[in-house]
Amino acid sequence: MTHRIEEILLLRAIINEAKAQGKSVGFVPTMGALHEGHLCLVRQSKEENDFTVVSIYVNLRQFNSSDDFTNYPRNPEQDFISLQQEAVDVVYFPQTLELFSKEFLPEEFDLEGLDYRLEGASRPGHFKGVIEVVHALFQHVKPAKAYFGLKDFQQVAVIRKMVSTLNLPVKLVGVPTVRAENGLALSSRNQRLSLEEQTEALVLIRTLIFLKDNYGKMPINTLLASAKNKMKRADLYLDYLEIVDIETLIPLKETTPCAVACIAAYCSGVRLIDNMLLIAH
Ligand code: AMP
Repeated sequence: MTHRIEEILLLRAIINEAKAQGKSVGFVPTMGALHEGHLCLVRQSKEENDFTVVSIYVNLRQFNSSDDFTNYPRNPEQDFISLQQEAVDVVYFPQTLELFSKEFLPEEFDLEGLDYRLEGASRPGHFKGVIEVVHALFQHVKPAKAYFGLKDFQQVAVIRKMVSTLNLPVKLVGVPTVRAENGLALSSRNQRLSLEEQTEALVLIRTLIFLKDNYGKMPINTLLASAKNKMKRADLYLDYLEIVDIETLIPLKETTPCAVACIAAYCSGVRLIDNMLLIAH
């Protein structure tokens, strides 16, 4: 049976009962409007744990545009049905006041710049909001393992840093990006794009594949310039395209054996991100 829970006391009671029965708890935080990408996280949690909790909460604190927050797709009823079909144990719909009732998080702690680069530079305050909500959720759910998509590569890095800095007793699991057959990374925001716009958005994956195929064959600056030049023909607005160190996320000046390419672009006003691991040829 899948429990639908809004109250923290009830959430804690059900989770404590599961733990008392010796069950391991896996946790998948989401903002809903679920797609196959989310469901892969859920399935992995189900495989690796005895009890899976999924949260659905569109977190205002991590949006830096009120339009983006207002237009963010929401589909709680369908989401609950999908999670019932996956036999999830608890679907938690946090209530804002309760969720943040105790601000457990230290005022300031150092994420060593991970939160200022890439998405952090384009969306000031975004990762502060992410950290606040994930930390609060971890305090309430207290999972043994938590599942995050590598589509949000920087988010995983930031949360990993938070967990190690605060010494939180949770193991983070990064799950590979799930894509549509045409290569487009699945995202709740894709729902806001027409089919034609989704085809236009394939420029992101094509650009990443170009970088992957050519990484190590020419200097990074030349490679990035060439990729950006190709993108000029596309009908979207590039926010950033960077090749960064896999740990620090600092843009690389010289080729290293392994790096990650990160891209963010607006397609008909909808902000899309994607990334790809690069291995030098
Ligand atoms: P969101 O609802 O967008 O906050 O996403 C919830 C979780 O699902 C995050 O850990 C995301 O990284 C993950 N996720 C979203 N899209 C994908 C995808 N296409 N493949 C894998 N994980 C994803």
